[in-house]
Amino acid sequence: MSRTGFFVGGERVQGSGQPFASVNPATGETNYELAAAGAGDVAHCVAIAKEALARSQWCGLRPPERARILGAIADGIVARSEDLAMIQLRENGKVLAECRAQVASAAATFRYYAAVCETAGAEVTPSRGDYLSMTSYEPIGVVAAITPWNSPLTMEAQKIAPALAGGNAVIVKPSEVTPSGALAVAEIALAAGLPAGILNVLTGTGVETGIPLVSHPDVRMVSFTGGTETGRSIAKIAAERLIPVALELGGKSPHIIFEDADLERAAAAVQDGIFEGSGQSCVAGSRLFVQRPVLQRMIELMRARAEAIAVGMPLDPGSKMGPLASFRHREHVERFVHSARAEGGEILAGGGRPSDAGLAKGAFYMPTLIGGLDPSAHACREEIFGPVLCILAFDDEEDLVAQANGTAYGLAAGIWSLDVTRALRVARRLEAGTVWINTYKQLSIATPFGGYKDSGIGREKGVGGMRLYQQIKSIYLGGVRL
Ligand code: NDP
Repeated sequence: MSRTGFFVGGERVQGSGQPFASVNPATGETNYELAAAGAGDVAHCVAIAKEALARSQWCGLRPPERARILGAIADGIVARSEDLAMIQLRENGKVLAECRAQVASAAATFRYYAAVCETAGAEVTPSRGDYLSMTSYEPIGVVAAITPWNSPLTMEAQKIAPALAGGNAVIVKPSEVTPSGALAVAEIALAAGLPAGILNVLTGTGVETGIPLVSHPDVRMVSFTGGTETGRSIAKIAAERLIPVALELGGKSPHIIFEDADLERAAAAVQDGIFEGSGQSCVAGSRLFVQRPVLQRMIELMRARAEAIAVGMPLDPGSKMGPLASFRHREHVERFVHSARAEGGEILAGGGRPSDAGLAKGAFYMPTLIGGLDPSAHACREEIFGPVLCILAFDDEEDLVAQANGTAYGLAAGIWSLDVTRALRVARRLEAGTVWINTYKQLSIATPFGGYKDSGIGREKGVGGMRLYQQIKSIYLGGVRL
């Protein structure tokens, strides 16, 4: 089997780390083998990126010139969209429609940051003496971008595009489960005119590749999306090194149904909010809070919907839900359902692997509803990151807010009520970086995104998404007055 190298300085490289296999989670078959970067490869890559920044004048290019290249990367992604969608489908098992949507989102992200790059200004600040005082925004340097496996293209674009727009060099360390999308985007960027060495990709594990990258003295910032415990360990290294970190971490988002809600519409949104992508979404609405008078009705609606979801091969156009991204991850989900049973939970739908023999070789798991749990149960407090919805009841606003805020996470929340005043009042009280009212999981690249509490530090997306990768310089020019 041929081995795919990683991407440094515009070239494919076979590294010194332990090579690893990419596995198709729908079939259990090996896709290909990939090279892995060891500490020496990481040091080489950082040196190349640093030199490319100095040599290529990337940050010295005028914003419209940088923007033109970012736009050309978007065009390149669109031109290879079917190929990119298939890469993701083979590696994390999402259904084709979802993979296609994520490729389109990655292209749109590059286009958005091309526009931000071209239009964002610097400021002249009010003078308090005989000088002209200005604030300018400058690149940070070599940025490490570490990403997870659930939505690799989307997450990587959300880091690469604003960091490049801000004039930095980037080294991406994708998850070993989904390594190939970032490699393809780096090739597209080179062909689009990005100087070699400004965007590099190191494949390998978190321990063998990720830790040396975060620890390298010439990496000046880390942007990480992934689990909370990994984020915490990266933040410790960054704190010791005094470098900035942006952390997009896990979630346990409450999806709230008041008794006056449009229950049919709400049920459709709850379904997509938890089962799209097999629940492997940081903003998955994994705790459903229902006001007691409509609890039974909502359970009936959700049960009918969960049982009707077509679980199947990701390439089958009829499939609504593919497998989990890896066999190891399915075991993680199974452990949670087991613990929920042990803690008194009632399985209202699913709760196991599909009986269809055609799916037996893949990491499939049925859409699962669990009722009857105490809010303190493991499955109600910890992130499962799978197609498992815990259904809980509440009596009034006070009870709801206490329960909804009762986890360590604070990424997102959804509220369904026809009383908009109440919905807004509750939205203000929820500890969450994003709150949806009478909708769920709408995401715009123009709107800031990030978490409260253990769900992260910093906000990606929006104009601030580029500023995240810049540092402010203040300049005073003496003898001048406006
Ligand atoms: P992990 O935290 O396990 O891994 C994320 C990335 O970090 C991978 O590339 C991983 O490499 C790498 N990594 C692991 N350990 C280290 C380390 N010590 N130092 C440096 N890098 C390391 O998360 P998952 O990949 O399992 O992704 C799922 C998690 O991501 C969920 O908890 C989910 O909530 C969160 N997530 C958050 C989002 C948000 O925006 N808030 C969006 C999407 C997901 P490797 O896996 O190759 O070892």
